[in-house]
Amino acid sequence: MDATNLIATAPLPILITNTEGVITQVNAAAEAFYGCSAAALIGTNIANLAYAESRHEQERALWRVLHTEQAWEGLLDYTTHEDRPRTVRLYLSLVRDQVGAVCGVAFFISDVNEVVVFQRTLQRERDRLEAILESANDAMFMVDSDGTVVTANLQFERLFNLHRYDVLEHPLDTLVDQLRAQPNLPPDFANVLLNFGSDRSQSASYEFEISSTPRRVIRWYSEPVHTYDGVPLGRLFVFRDATHELAVDRTKTEFVSLVTHELGTPLSVIKNAIEMIQDDQASALSEDGHEYVQIIQQRVELLETLIKDIIALTRIEAGRIELRRAYHPLNVALDEAINSVRSITQARHQLLEIELADDLPLLWIDRNRIAQVFTNLLTNASKYTHDGGVLMVRAARVDHLWELPEDSPAEVRLPAVLIMVQDTGIGIAPEEQARIFQRFYRAENARQRRIQGSGLGLTIVESFVELHGGKVWLRSAPMEGSAFFFTIPIIEGK
Ligand code: ADP
Repeated sequence: MDATNLIATAPLPILITNTEGVITQVNAAAEAFYGCSAAALIGTNIANLAYAESRHEQERALWRVLHTEQAWEGLLDYTTHEDRPRTVRLYLSLVRDQVGAVCGVAFFISDVNEVVVFQRTLQRERDRLEAILESANDAMFMVDSDGTVVTANLQFERLFNLHRYDVLEHPLDTLVDQLRAQPNLPPDFANVLLNFGSDRSQSASYEFEISSTPRRVIRWYSEPVHTYDGVPLGRLFVFRDATHELAVDRTKTEFVSLVTHELGTPLSVIKNAIEMIQDDQASALSEDGHEYVQIIQQRVELLETLIKDIIALTRIEAGRIELRRAYHPLNVALDEAINSVRSITQARHQLLEIELADDLPLLWIDRNRIAQVFTNLLTNASKYTHDGGVLMVRAARVDHLWELPEDSPAEVRLPAVLIMVQDTGIGIAPEEQARIFQRFYRAENARQRRIQGSGLGLTIVESFVELHGGKVWLRSAPMEGSAFFFTIPIIEGK
């Protein structure tokens, strides 16, 4: 096969021009690429085929090949029959006649448009990702599944005071060594990072302090990273400076403590005053006056419960709850609660039935906390029950699993005293029952009926019961009433 034949049948589009750039020969692949016949292409100047912006570059390439007599290679945008530019890789080489004189240039065209478009898209995606990482407030770095640091952002450099390019594409150990050398970081921090570096499944979140002035608190977490179809990519570490957040939190807690404390004093003065009015001047009060005093008393009691709940919640959140336990009979705590809800139940003409088993042992409890559990459950039982309804408190000793009600949670610790606070009220829809222990959650029926409340009472009930080692759960149906159960484990011989 001679050279002319080789060109004609080559799968690569090939054009040959004279030294002026006028096309003298094309192959079938070039006809297909440009979408026009050889006849239409031959005689045209090659400049017309290049996309407007690339024309000048092509002219220079042609000039260079002719004058330096060296081949040229480069990327160029070409106009095709699709009328859109396609990026091609162009190879230009001299064509000589039989006596060796330069008579033209051969253009070999490799269509790399798809590859270039794909590369550009990829680059755009990479730039976008990098921009997101760079503008994030959190410091981040990622190690791949081989434990090599593959990404780290600007905040990471700032937080750890090191250059990312010193650790990028290096094993995690290199980074860990640099962190170990920093005296203001906790000594075990680097080890924790190292341990997680090779772990593929665990999520973790921690907190540590940087000993600078002022001290900074850093919260961080680490998650394994997978592709959407589960192929492990490595592990991401994210660090957030929580110093300000914590300071605001502390100020908020201090403010809440101050306000609740300041409210407590006038409230007990009001309470005492009400009692004195009721004791001394009962006869002197008109019927309306008597009713008003009762309303004030109820509101004061609800306000008192709310304040206690807020104090308890701030302590629970700050992890500052300590139980002051001693051995007490259950009714000490119950009586205190009954006293604080009496005016509410009386005003609503609700009947309060108490049934405590005779064999209840002394319980190792913080009586004030258990009183608050009872107060919250009884206040709810009263609030969510119509006037004239019935509230019941029952307590019995449970030694064996089979003595527990069927719907008890599995993890109840025995022996225990099982307590039930039941009402004949509006009940709670089954789909909401799991959520009512969450902070601030109020069920639909409570909101619809505009029954006042904060959504804190049951959160506190659950925390206090669990702090005593017990469990709380409920059984309820709309319009059939509710029964709240809780257990207090029996701890003997303390
Ligand atoms: P709240 O201050 O709203 O009463 P709780 O945390 O004590 O807050 O209760 C959460 C929600 O659970 C209430 O808003 C109410 O919707 C529902 N709930 C609690 N106890 C009862 C009950 N005995 N009967 C009906 N609904 C109740």
